[in-house]
Amino acid sequence: MEIVGSRRKNSSFSSADDAAVVSTIPLYRSAPELEVRLDDFELYAIHRLRVLKGISDGLSRGKKPNEMENLTKELWKVNMRNSEASEVANKDIISHYVLRLVYCREEELRKWFLSMETTLFRYRFQLETTDAQRALLKEFDLPYKAVSNAEYESVKEKLNQVVRSIGQPLSSADTIYYKVPFEQVPDLVATRRVFIFKGYAYVAMNQVVSLLMTQYRSHLSKALVLTNRKWTSMILEQEKDRLTPIVEALSTSYLGPDYSQPREYGEISLKDIDQVAKSSFPLCMRHLFEKLREDHHLKHGGRMQLGLFLKGVGLKLDDALAFWKAEFSRKVGAERFDKEYAYGIRHNYGKEGKRTDYTPYSCQKIISSTPGVGDHHGCPYRHFSEENLRAALDKMGVGNRAVQDVMDKVRNRHYQLACTLTFEAIHGASCDAGINHPNQYYNDSKNILESRVRATRMVDTLMYAEV
Ligand code: SF4
Repeated sequence: MEIVGSRRKNSSFSSADDAAVVSTIPLYRSAPELEVRLDDFELYAIHRLRVLKGISDGLSRGKKPNEMENLTKELWKVNMRNSEASEVANKDIISHYVLRLVYCREEELRKWFLSMETTLFRYRFQLETTDAQRALLKEFDLPYKAVSNAEYESVKEKLNQVVRSIGQPLSSADTIYYKVPFEQVPDLVATRRVFIFKGYAYVAMNQVVSLLMTQYRSHLSKALVLTNRKWTSMILEQEKDRLTPIVEALSTSYLGPDYSQPREYGEISLKDIDQVAKSSFPLCMRHLFEKLREDHHLKHGGRMQLGLFLKGVGLKLDDALAFWKAEFSRKVGAERFDKEYAYGIRHNYGKEGKRTDYTPYSCQKIISSTPGVGDHHGCPYRHFSEENLRAALDKMGVGNRAVQDVMDKVRNRHYQLACTLTFEAIHGASCDAGINHPNQYYNDSKNILESRVRATRMVDTLMYAEV
């Protein structure tokens, strides 16, 4: 693998004085020859994933372009920094290639990665200095020429009309235009931000990023398909003991806090559990909880999803055994429960088998599960029919208008955002970080509800003191 630096070919986009300027954005055209420690292999990928996930959340929350630019800058600064400058560049390249492996394996993963990496490229490009932007333009080596003075004068009025209609201030660089086939700049055409004449779009210097995004996306899209072929034909088997488990875990990895131990709210008692389920469980857990109460049984996937969640919210092992036994006994009898099901519960608490203290499932893991017939686990925003989801939201007390917003997010496959909107509608409070984990939903909900109880108590005390 080889790191691609800035090449200085004579290009239509070059200028005489940019010879010494190098862009900090690599084009990832060929993989670098670098040695990477296994720890860094995973860690760098997780850091880049945080950037891409942050961008994805920003986009789905409808952030404006200038807000996205600031968000990208911040995400990059927080996650991709390194004390040594040369390591920053290596980390950038290594993390990109590791995530290519992770996200090349399925159509849906490829689409997401392609879209987030292209958006990341866009904002990184916009944050570069003009000279660095020109240097990068040169690297693309595009076959388009700047419009000549004579041609510019002949279409100047039309070009200015477009500039005025999009309310963009003119700078000296805006008088440099490139003439490109209009299909090369689909986003400019779709938003009517470009003058088109005889099949050519006149792209201003400050819009050139759209052209580069098309090129970048097309190159990355092809590269992902090739990587997938290599992955399935060679790497998967060759690396089955070393890289394959890391790569497979990364696509569903949860990047937030560890909820394996209840920290914030200590224990949850059996006598409160029904009331707490109603007020503070996310829909996925509420649904499992209600099904368990109704059917006195849950299949393996449901037992794992709900059981680990309950452990994370503070249900002690003895209470967990009593809770599951009370339900299952009504269906299969106490003896069979002790023989067949109690082991699994103790196992989740690290008291059997490998004695691992298992972690509650994250949203990503739940969303990517595939419940079969008779299963009740999974994420309702992803796995329920529209009709069932509407009914469940209605039962939770989500108003009509909020239900519409939730359904919009579901249609666009933003399941965690749909859950965030539900949380906000029910609690009447915003959840800026978004929902990433059912146990985070629970903690945030308890935070809000308990602070309200404290505030009410304080008001009562003050009133009592005045009387
Ligand atoms: S988004 Fe997460 S917390 Fe919400 S219902 Fe789905 S899996 Fe549960």
